[in-house]
Amino acid sequence: MGKISPLKIDEIRGAINIVHYISQFVSLKKAGQNFKGLCPFHTEKTPSFIVSPSKQIFHCFGCGKGGNLFTFIMEYEKLSFIEALRRAADFAGIPLPEEDLQTQIKERTYFEKLYQINEIAAKFFEENLFKKENRNWLQYFKKRGLSEKTIRKFQLGYAPDAKTALLDVLKKNSVDLAEAEKLGLINRSYYSESFIDKFRHRVMFPFHNLSGKIIGFGGRQLREEQQPKYLNSPESPIYKKGSILYGLYQAINRIREEDYVILVEGYFDLLQLVEHGQTNVVASSGTALTDYQARLLGRYTQKVLLLYDGDAAGRKAALRNGYILEKNGLNAYIAVLPADEDPDSFLSKNDLKELEPYLKSQLTPIEFEINSFFEENPKPSLQDKNQFVMQLLENLLELNDPLKTGLYLPLISDLLQINEALLIEQYRKLEKRRRRWSKKEEPEAEITPEKEDRFHRGQYLAEAGVVYLLLNGDEKVRNFLVSQLSYDMFETPSFIEVYEAIVTELEERGIVDAKSVMLQFEEAVDVQAALSALDLMEFNDPFKFARDCIFQLKKWSLEKKAQEFQELIRSDHESQDAVAHYTMELMRVRKEINVLIKTHRQGDVEF
Ligand SMILES: [Zn+2]
Repeated sequence: MGKISPLKIDEIRGAINIVHYISQFVSLKKAGQNFKGLCPFHTEKTPSFIVSPSKQIFHCFGCGKGGNLFTFIMEYEKLSFIEALRRAADFAGIPLPEEDLQTQIKERTYFEKLYQINEIAAKFFEENLFKKENRNWLQYFKKRGLSEKTIRKFQLGYAPDAKTALLDVLKKNSVDLAEAEKLGLINRSYYSESFIDKFRHRVMFPFHNLSGKIIGFGGRQLREEQQPKYLNSPESPIYKKGSILYGLYQAINRIREEDYVILVEGYFDLLQLVEHGQTNVVASSGTALTDYQARLLGRYTQKVLLLYDGDAAGRKAALRNGYILEKNGLNAYIAVLPADEDPDSFLSKNDLKELEPYLKSQLTPIEFEINSFFEENPKPSLQDKNQFVMQLLENLLELNDPLKTGLYLPLISDLLQINEALLIEQYRKLEKRRRRWSKKEEPEAEITPEKEDRFHRGQYLAEAGVVYLLLNGDEKVRNFLVSQLSYDMFETPSFIEVYEAIVTELEERGIVDAKSVMLQFEEAVDVQAALSALDLMEFNDPFKFARDCIFQLKKWSLEKKAQEFQELIRSDHESQDAVAHYTMELMRVRKEINVLIKTHRQGDVEF
């Protein structure tokens, strides 16, 4: 069993100029050292797609896609890494031995081990669903209108009503049980130290990441008394809550083709739409979208159609998520179903044809909010109307998008019959006040929900930054970073993987060969995109950049701690003694944050 050697990969890469390759698909014009063109991954009028011949990378500053030659082929031609390699080898006229193609280049890392354990579990659940003695549970899906094809496509399954059914299978496959526990597949029982299955008598929905690997599960109750209704995998090294959208992996190609995505709430809403042939759909699984999820969708399309339950809760959720999408630069539209329907119930009685008028009734979040207001208050008092306008302006301010502000202010003025000049004046006032507040708030370490988003973005950039510098920085920078970093400072699963690979290199060989590390991540398109953006920036002072990133990461992890203590203090379940203890801890963490901020500022002066 051979594998494609790094030398061969380098040979292929070295034989092709990325500018020539991309020119087959995009018309590129010279711009300074680089080439510029209209991005093939999103619709734009002015070019923000850059190809660098000296660095042999591409990056779009509009949609964030980027990487090297192989990333481009994978993304543009929708191929796996191996297939992309073959395509490039063909282009360069380099022969590849056939058996090389059949094995993965990637070494089996820790993460792959975890994926494999989930894979074993998923297969077990799926096989169980199709066993004779479990036909009731297969019927459960079929009664809800799902065909075997859809059931198979999403690898739905059934976890038997037994204590050690999965455990036995894991043991038979010599799975490391401690890792299976980490993945939340098994738990230690209350009475003894032995393990028992966590998912019992539930229908199972595996969660896939973007490369189709299973990173977790949702299990739905089959008896009323089973709690909770939906039991989900806990966070693990490969699964972070709020980092995936259910069904995205299966929907990616159709989303690109249609250039829009339908966002629904529940698994069954999604499966029902897929069953009816509408496959560009993802599910938010009943919680508020995170900024990360919004930006994740933004990689594939700018247009999101929210199709939520027609009741009050569904409308509220649609509006909230609509604004989150807009705030992240996407265009959200809300489609409203009749009050007592959700997509699942609607499609179990009707065809896609009957759904179409609803899909076409697209309102922007602002329009939707105004409509809802007038439905609830057919004749609003002046005071109600005033209050409502202020709320709209606050929402608009939150979007922080001058273009949308320009579009929406006249619309608000029109629909609510308010003088536009007055509206603009009011908006400016709010904007000014907001800016004053944010300045005042800075030295405080208090976390508010509005600030959290900003942290997340800063956190992501800082993680990308340290990973970039670990790979590309000089020894001084790298030693500094290694001495400061720890696993718990990372949030993004793929960056943890890169960091882990670097640490392993350092431990095993004492040096980091950036090229060999990056070879392991040729397939990780999100890592490639983040690193290509940094590659195109000029750093005057990499060491200062490293310090800023570390500061950001440390601050974030302390702030997360502070938030945890705050939640404990506010919770009703803690004793007075415990609350006193947490309050002390909170003060200590706050102090630590202040010290950190102070030292960082002083550091700035010295350098
Ligand atoms: Zn783009």
